[in-house]
Amino acid sequence: HAKKLGLSTYQVFEPKMHSHTVELLQIENDLRRAVENKDLRVYYQPIINLSNREITGFETLVRWQHQTRGFINPDDFIPLAEETGLIIPLGRFVLQNACEKMQQWRSAYTEAKDWVIHVNVSGKQLCQSNFVAELQAILKQTEMLPQNLKLEVTESVFLNQVPRVMEILHELQFLGIQLALDDFGTGYSSLSYLHKLPFKTLKIDRSFIQDLEINNDKLGILRAIVSLATHLGMDVVAEGIETPHQMAQLKALKCEYGQGYLFSKPLDSELMEAWFQAECLSQEEQKACNLRTE
Ligand code: C2E
Ligand code: MG
Ligand code: MG
Ligand code: MG
Repeated sequence: HAKKLGLSTYQVFEPKMHSHTVELLQIENDLRRAVENKDLRVYYQPIINLSNREITGFETLVRWQHQTRGFINPDDFIPLAEETGLIIPLGRFVLQNACEKMQQWRSAYTEAKDWVIHVNVSGKQLCQSNFVAELQAILKQTEMLPQNLKLEVTESVFLNQVPRVMEILHELQFLGIQLALDDFGTGYSSLSYLHKLPFKTLKIDRSFIQDLEINNDKLGILRAIVSLATHLGMDVVAEGIETPHQMAQLKALKCEYGQGYLFSKPLDSELMEAWFQAECLSQEEQKACNLRTE
């Protein structure tokens, strides 16, 4: 009987557990190799001034080009990267690429002079002992000014090691690097602590923008968030704008900046360059057209 039970237990649990563990190990191995071989791509999504549609900067979003599984989105591997510590070399790769690309654009296009590049940083990455030193080395090597870099962190960085996190954030602020609080509205989102933190920018999570048309409660919350952030002297970026109507509502709330598929999906650097060339050209044409009709 015991043997039978053992067998059935084995049949029910073991193969599944086994294949799950094997798969996880496999993915971890693949990710390690991807980081080593740099099978990662940095995508860019524009951040737009909603009042004049001008580009103010870009958010960098990493993608993993897996040899057999195709493109993998960050939500499916960043948690694993954090768990395994691979986030540290991965994050370094993204930062290096983002700064290099920004400097290229800044030297090639006059419109790019004041563009700011946003880079997502996870808690584990931020708290690694030499994060600030490595970041400074990248800035120096790429000749990038600290004020042209904005690091995005989510509220989850405050889940542990709060004094340490605060120390690093203040250090970054002291160096002139800008800071954004990402995905605001999804975590604890305590409005009362905002003024104590060194964030220049508040990014409102996509979930608030998505059903803006139909959900009046969300509109109310959004209005309160924008108003508070503005009073605290912060910039507000709305994430995930997909329709002209959402944009109009955000403008009515005096939300200054936005990002989303309405403007552009995240694109690789070449496609993004083509996108902003076309965009800047059409803006110039519009301006010339306005002048002619005035
Ligand atoms: P996030 O920082 O909040 O980035 C915004 C996400 O919203 C991106 O997803 C972007 O593609 C998506 N998005 C932008 N506009 C729209 C829209 O109009 N509609 C919809 N449906 N989605 C939109 P993505 O690229 O899949 O990234 C997911 C998350 O992964 C990011 O959320 C960020 O937390 C994390 N992540 C991405 N790259 C990095 C990285 O280099 N380092 C770290 N630590 N995390 C990263
Ligand atoms: Mg972000
Ligand atoms: Mg976000
Ligand atoms: Mg997010």
